[in-house]
Amino acid sequence: MFSILTIIYLIASVTFIIGLKMLSHPETARKGNLIAAGGMALAIFGTIFLYENAGGQKLGNLIWMFGALVVGGVLGSVSSRRVKMTQMPEMVSLFNGMGGACAMLISLIEFNKISGSEIELGHYIAIVFGLVIGSISFAGSIIAYLKLSGKQKDISFKGQHIFNAMLFAIILAGAVLTYFAPVENAHIYFYGTFALAILYGIFFVLPIGGADMPVVISLLNSLTGVAAACGGFLYDNKAMLTGGILVGAAGTLLTVLMCKAMNRSLLNVIIGNWGASNAATASSEAYGAYKEVTISDAAMLMSYAKKVIIVPGYGLAVAQAQHTCHELEKILTDKGVEVSYAIHPVAGRMPGHMNVLLAEADVAYEKLEEMEDANGNFKTTDVVLILGANDVVNPAAKNDPTSPIYGMPILEVEQAKNVIVNKRSMKPGYAGIENALFFQPKTSMLFGDAKKILQDLCTEVKAN
Ligand code: NDP
Repeated sequence: MFSILTIIYLIASVTFIIGLKMLSHPETARKGNLIAAGGMALAIFGTIFLYENAGGQKLGNLIWMFGALVVGGVLGSVSSRRVKMTQMPEMVSLFNGMGGACAMLISLIEFNKISGSEIELGHYIAIVFGLVIGSISFAGSIIAYLKLSGKQKDISFKGQHIFNAMLFAIILAGAVLTYFAPVENAHIYFYGTFALAILYGIFFVLPIGGADMPVVISLLNSLTGVAAACGGFLYDNKAMLTGGILVGAAGTLLTVLMCKAMNRSLLNVIIGNWGASNAATASSEAYGAYKEVTISDAAMLMSYAKKVIIVPGYGLAVAQAQHTCHELEKILTDKGVEVSYAIHPVAGRMPGHMNVLLAEADVAYEKLEEMEDANGNFKTTDVVLILGANDVVNPAAKNDPTSPIYGMPILEVEQAKNVIVNKRSMKPGYAGIENALFFQPKTSMLFGDAKKILQDLCTEVKAN
């Protein structure tokens, strides 16, 4: 029986790796997710029915376990079906927090089992790592969820980074003291360490600026992976170990890639307060006047263009206008216009948001241009149509060293002959800063909800 379980864990580990690989391409992502989930289900049921301890005893508490599976399964699937695309980062954050909480609870339970007796070092290290990392990830993810859903504001105070560093040092000291303390006192240090780790998770995320939340969520995600891997060590469970290490490694890579996409270091993200409510903003008066374009003029411009590049952003997702956008692309293509999409890596509210959004509307993957390629193509483009994007086309990232987004690579749309920007008002985007692009002579504003504007554009372009 034990060897069957080992084989099951091996299969689960392989499905995680295959699933993760398939997630890296929109065409295979859905299948990859199912394959990894299948492997996870196999590992869960294999453990429930086949696991035996050293004494040959099987797992008890089946009613509790199946009860938890049903409650978790129903809550997970209902909330996943209901969540809007734009709320995905909140959901990822909440789910990640649950992973951290699991690792934390495992450590608490395992410590209780050995509390009062001599602690074996290797076992203790896995317990305390799981506790500290899991608690930080749990508390941090819940704060990240509250901030993303607008229920919690950024909070920072003078000397907060020093306070955080000291808190972390005390946590490390508590972890060491627990091991060396007399057996009867060890639990005092252990629970103290636990409480401080929760506090650290809260204070770590509270001051981080809104626009940096995706990086933080990715970092917390990798922490949860490491905490789960500690559980794998504790239970000698290979599937948990592989799954945890994969999540930890993938989360770390994603964190690094996102920092690179914004041209910032991780340290700057953690202590930079970028996009927080106190971010520097230039007033619109400083840029002068902007001009507007009518639907019919915009349609005319695009109908007679040779090449149009569409830049999708968060607003397109809010308006749920991806299908209408695809419709406009088809109408223009039928008229002989070359149409493609320029995708910025952090457009929208989660990595790959625009790819997923456009894939939903069956936009051909070949039509999507990555930022570097698009930046090479704008020069030869007649019209750039920006749909609900703002920060990712803000030239301040290139030209204004005082701007909080300075250094972030952007889509250099101003190289095109004409730029049409669709949004509902002159309000700033996620980073809370003005956009000089809207005031440039080449740019025309097309105000309105993206869906309505696109519907009108489809009608007008057809009529041209
Ligand atoms: P922005 O948030 O900068 O701008 C979106 C714009 O869309 C707003 O200015 C808004 O203007 C407009 N808009 C909103 N609703 C509609 C609508 N219904 N119709 C038309 N327009 C609409 O989005 P970007 O995609 O340019 O940039 C993403 C930002 O989010 C970056 O700062 C990034 O760092 C951050 N971020 C990225 C994440 C990621 O992983 N991708 C996750 C979290 C944040 P108006 O109100 O005037 O309509």
